[in-house]
This record gives sequence, C-alpha cells and structure tokens, in this order.
Amino acid sequence: MRKKIVAGNWKMNGVQEEGQKLTSEIVNMLRDEPQKDVTVVLNPPYVHLHGVNKLIAGVKNIHLGGQNCSDKASGAFTGEISAEMLASFGAEYVIIGHSERREYFRETNALLTEKTKQALANKLTPIFCCGEPLEIRESGTHEDYVKNQLTESLFGFSENEIKNIVIAYEPIWAIGTGKTASAEQAQEMHAAIRQHLAGKFGSAVADEISILYGGSCKPDNAREIFSKPDVDGGLIGGASLKSRDFVDIIKSF
Ligand code: PEP
Repeated sequence: MRKKIVAGNWKMNGVQEEGQKLTSEIVNMLRDEPQKDVTVVLNPPYVHLHGVNKLIAGVKNIHLGGQNCSDKASGAFTGEISAEMLASFGAEYVIIGHSERREYFRETNALLTEKTKQALANKLTPIFCCGEPLEIRESGTHEDYVKNQLTESLFGFSENEIKNIVIAYEPIWAIGTGKTASAEQAQEMHAAIRQHLAGKFGSAVADEISILYGGSCKPDNAREIFSKPDVDGGLIGGASLKSRDFVDIIKSF
C-alpha cells in the first residue's frame, strides 16, 4: 500500500506567532477529527522548525519537513542549511526542486541530484518536485519534459533509494494561480510518471512510490483529484496557510 500524504508548503510566510497559531490549530483539529491513514507533513520556513516540532511532538501522523536543503554536507556556505541540520531539528521530509527554487535560484536537475543525495544520506524523505511551464503544456510535450526532469535528477539512484523518495507533480501554470489541473490531467501525468519509474526501476518499485499533486489544490477540488488511482495526495501551498482549508484537504481522501 502506498502512503497517502498531504504536505503543506508554507513558503516564506508567517512570523513566529503565526506559525505557532497555525500549527496549534491544525494539531487541535486533527485531534478532534483524526485521519488515520493520511501522513501529514508541515514544511514551515527553517526558523519555525523548532517551534513547530515542539507543538507536533507526540501527535501521530503529523511530521515535519524543510522546504529546501543544501547540496553540501557542511562548510563555508553562508546562509545555507544542511540536510543533517534539518534532521537534527526533527525534520523527516524535505521538499527538493520546487519550481520556485528552480526558477528563482536556478536550481538545475544535476544540482537536485546532489540535494537528494544529502537528504537520503540523512534519512530525510525527499519530496521531489517536477512539473512543466505553460508553454510546454501548450506545445503538448509536457510528459517528455517531466520524464526528462526525473531521468536527469533521479535515475542514478538505486531501487532502495528511489523507494524512499516521494514525487510531487506540480504543473507550474497551476501553482498559486487558482488554475488547477483537472483530475484527468493529474491522473494522466501521474500514470505517465509511474510508468516511467517502472521502466527504470521495475513496476513493483514504482507501485510503492507516492506521487502527490500540487497546484491550487483546495478543499473544493481535492476530493476529485485524490480519487484518481495514481494520485497519492497533495503538496499544498496557499491553502496550507489556512488551518480549516488544510485539514479539509486532508479529510478529502
Ligand atoms: C506549491 O507551491 O507547492 C503549491 C502547490 O502552491 P499552491 O497550492 O498555492 O498552488
């Protein structure tokens, strides 16, 4: 059985009090409305990790993640955060290769391999993001584009390593735009991704890998998207900043 996962990507939002309030609300709601089969991951900005970790301590099924990590283990890289540091603050997951990092910080497929290696070496589960821009979708080459992202970044890993990676398909044209991929578009791409992984690592391995959808996922569209056979959950941006919306998305399975 593949893990069902709903991960919240807070991005660069929230001062300390807001992060604490948001976490407490989510924890309380999930206590009152438990969702036993869904793994919930909160990915706050780095400075919130310690505080959020304290609030989720002992709460089943809520886990902590970073939004990024360095491709290096340690050293003179001012401003960077290592995977080992994230793990030492209680993180179990880390988002790698979000489209905002690829675009604004020029993260390449090769760099993302190194970040993924760092995550795995420190027992963090990478949530590896892929997805095409609008012009690629419109040109009809979106499947090849996404497959190439995965091939270039992840096909050097072993079967055992890839099993510990979560994929997040996030069409860039749907991120923060209010324009969601249809459930059919999501299923089509998720199936193509799984088939691509099966071609390299075998179908038994590909069947174990959770593939999340991300891009304007909200309480009113999550149920339909999550009902598709190859969609194993969501990576949620804007709606993860509203406790009620985030919990309602978690309850959409
Ligand atoms: C994201 O940035 O990972 C994301 C999916 O954002 P949003 O839900 O706001 O589109």
